[in-house]
Amino acid sequence: MGKTKHNWTKEDILAVYNQPLMELLYQAATIHREHHDPNTVQVSTLLSIKTGGCPEDCGYCPQAARYHTPIEGNDLMSVQQVKAQALRAKSTGSSRVCMGAAWRNVKDGPEFDQVLEMVRTINKLDMEVCCTLGMLTENQAKRLAEAGLYAYNHNLDSSEAYYKEVISTRGFEDRLKTIDNVRKTNVTVCSGGIIGMGEKIEDRAGMLVALSTLNPQPESVPINALVAVEGTPLEDQEPVSIWEMVRMVATTRIVMPETQVRLSAGRTQMTREGQAMCFFAGANSIFAGDKLLTTPNPDVHEDMEMFEVLGLHPQKPFLKHVHPQTVDAENSQYQSLGENPKWTRPEHSIARNEAARKAKNR
Ligand code: SF4
Repeated sequence: MGKTKHNWTKEDILAVYNQPLMELLYQAATIHREHHDPNTVQVSTLLSIKTGGCPEDCGYCPQAARYHTPIEGNDLMSVQQVKAQALRAKSTGSSRVCMGAAWRNVKDGPEFDQVLEMVRTINKLDMEVCCTLGMLTENQAKRLAEAGLYAYNHNLDSSEAYYKEVISTRGFEDRLKTIDNVRKTNVTVCSGGIIGMGEKIEDRAGMLVALSTLNPQPESVPINALVAVEGTPLEDQEPVSIWEMVRMVATTRIVMPETQVRLSAGRTQMTREGQAMCFFAGANSIFAGDKLLTTPNPDVHEDMEMFEVLGLHPQKPFLKHVHPQTVDAENSQYQSLGENPKWTRPEHSIARNEAARKAKNR
């Protein structure tokens, strides 16, 4: 097993990405087998615990309040609702529940306390718990860790250069800072991005440079294919081809051999054969459930049928990292500091984001 390399350059990664497909697949599949069981795929269920009304301007996201999209928002779910959904997910083969809230950043207060209780509840069901709640301070990361959080998702989305073409309400450095805050705990890091937003292949390589040069590399890297939603600034983007997806998955596997590469949004646009090629290229995780936050996803029974055809089986929880212990609220070492920090707000103008915002006001 080779040593993980942390000094990938954009040129190195482009050379991997652009090689003949059969060479790329062979190299990725070989590395995959050195580090993982190729017949095991981790299954996560993504729950939108607070949908819509987000103040951010991410150009791909139908939950941004400023765009005119067919999203029905909802307030924060109750702990009981989340527990019921987690139990359902467990019964259909999921080992992880990932809870997403459409927030810019975490704010200390009753809603965060409620999320901490959700984390405690799901961890006690012997499932891995992941959260994606926006930017996070060190103390907030420590409180989540104490509650029993297994992973925190915070995507870099694209290269630093292309990030500015998609989002103006926060900077790339905020993303890295949040990941750094998570790294001050034992919580694992999940961070990846989206292809098909109009970026160049150089931007895909740039994103992989940013992720692979983190030390340690993220334990989990989701690769999403843009699902263009009407009303968002990226509504007219053409879907990415399966070949681009396979190349991206294979390249991710090669530059981050130990990570779990997650085949995330965009699976409804792929055939089973296409998905099989992604698994061969090193993808070893999927999101289950008919919705990924707000975008469509294959039904879990279809996925289990696909697993049977391909001879794949779902990964057991806590196979890669230890089961975190939950500290109950009354014994907590870290308290609310009443934090609501000011993260950056570049607010540069992105023409297509502006146009989508104005369309709402017509
Ligand atoms: S991706 Fe997250 S932060 Fe961005 S608009 Fe959507 S919900 Fe808000």
